[in-house]
This record gives sequence, structure tokens and C-alpha cells, in this order.
Amino acid sequence: MNDSRLFDLAGKVALVTGGNGGIGLGIARGLAAAGAAIAVVGRKAEKLAAAVEHLEGLGARAVGLPCDVADEGAVTALAGQVADRLGRLDILVNNAGINIRKRPEDLAAAEWHQVMDANLTSAFLCAKACYPLMQQAGAGKIINNGSMLSIFGAPWSPVYAASKGGVVQLTKSLATAWAADNIQVNCILPGWIDTELTQRAREQIDALNENVLKRTPAGRWGRPDDFAGVAVFLASAASDFITGTALPVDGGYSIAI
Ligand code: NDP
Repeated sequence: MNDSRLFDLAGKVALVTGGNGGIGLGIARGLAAAGAAIAVVGRKAEKLAAAVEHLEGLGARAVGLPCDVADEGAVTALAGQVADRLGRLDILVNNAGINIRKRPEDLAAAEWHQVMDANLTSAFLCAKACYPLMQQAGAGKIINNGSMLSIFGAPWSPVYAASKGGVVQLTKSLATAWAADNIQVNCILPGWIDTELTQRAREQIDALNENVLKRTPAGRWGRPDDFAGVAVFLASAASDFITGTALPVDGGYSIAI
């Protein structure tokens, strides 16, 4: 392959769940800058419209698709909607996620299911919905969003950690299942990133800001745009022989003690 095309996503279409804010929008910006058209998925219509306007302002083709990724029926229809609106589907980013920070003894079963559905079952359902289109096209890229809690535990996040550990194992299983279809499935593990999700965490977890700054070798919180490069890499031909991995994007947090 010509080296200049290694990271080129011109003509490709990406579906980014939770692409209407935070890390997802950083990923969408990166994929758009590399030439991909973007279908942004989220629940809040206003945030979706703003994200589409933002991506179009950067010169990208973008559409917003309102959808609760925990809703099996809605997710099943999603891949077809992307193909109808943008003509094809090459890249799926399973990024949507939530957290309910409670100790295990305080966590209700309904809360357990809510987080598992949004973070883990959604990734399975979206991948399953996109698979036929990728299989027919003879290629595909799936990027799942894990967490430092894919590898560590915390007293205040048992269900989030379980869901994000599951994302890593789901990644490996999808990668083995679909390698013969030329579909690569990988996972990113963000460190502490400054988004709406962690603004709440700063209020709920004592001394979080100080501890993150102290433990992260890079000496700062991550930013949504820190995910643009890794997303382009894992969505492009540059990573065609990489599948089933879990790549920390954490400023060194996971290698420091
Ligand atoms: P945000 O809260 O900023 O973004 C979460 C996104 O997910 C929103 O765009 C939201 O859209 C969407 N979303 C949530 N639930 C659903 C749902 N049921 N259906 C459709 N969309 C949904 O958080 P982040 O950007 O920080 O988080 C993005 C991902 O990164 C998550 O999976 C999170 O677990 C992971 N992560 C984040 C870290 C961090 O430090 N920030 C660290 C490790 C992992 P809407 O509001 O429209 O529903």
C-alpha cells in the first residue's frame, strides 16, 4: 500500500455512539479530519444537533441519529439507518457509556442492569447490528471504549468495572469470531479524561483531581482530542494486522504506582 493512504479514511463511514459529546466527539473529530463521514448517535437531540453542526463546520459529512443504545430494537435498526443516510458503514465506535458510583452494598439490581445495558450489552448489540454490512463489504473496524476500570477495581464502581472488564473480553471474542471476515476489533482504555462524566466524579470522589495529577506521569487530565489519533489508527489500514487488543490511552496512569 502507498504509505500516504495508511491513515486515510476518505470514502469511509463511521458510526460513533456517544459521539455528541466528550471523548466520542473527540473521536468523531479525528475520524472526520481523516476523511470519514460520521453518523453520531446519542439520546439528547440538542447535543446531537450541536455535534453535527460542529462536524459539518469542520468540513465533514455528518448526520445525527437519536437512539438509546441500551434499547435492542432501536440499535438493530441503527446500522440500516446509517447505510440509508450515508451509503455504507465501515467503522463502528462503541463509546457511549454511563456510571453509577455506589459501593456494592448500596447498589440496586436495577442500577446494575442499567449500567451493564448502557456500557456492555450496547457494544454487543451495536456490533451485531453492524456485522452484516461489514461482512458484505469484506472489511470493517470496531473500536470499543473500555476504561482503567477494565483492569483495576474501585470500591465506588463495581458495576462500571464489571461492564468495562466485559468490554475487553467482548473485544477479544468478536475479534476472533470476525477475523476471517477482515473485521478488526480493538479496545481503548482511557485514563482520566476531562468530560461531563468525570466532572461529576470530581464532586463524588475525595481528592480525585490531586490524585489523578499525582499518579498520571503525563501530569495532566486527558482531553477528548487525545483520542483522535488512536481512533484514526484503529479505524484505518494502518492497523489491519492488529485485532483483539486493549490499548491504554492514559498518559501513563496504568504503568505508574
Ligand atoms: P460523557 O458523559 O461526556 O459522554 C457519554 C456519551 O454517551 C454522551 O454523548 C451520551 O449521549 C452517550 N450515552 C450515554 N448513554 C447512552 C445511551 N444509553 N444511548 C446513547 N448514548 C448514550 O462521557 P465521556 O466522554 O467521558 O465517556 C465516553 C466513554 O468513555 C464512556 O464509555 C466512558 O465510560 C468512557 N471512559 C471515560 C473516561 C473519562 O475519564 N472521562 C475514562 C474511561 C472511560 P447523550 O447524553 O445524548 O445520551
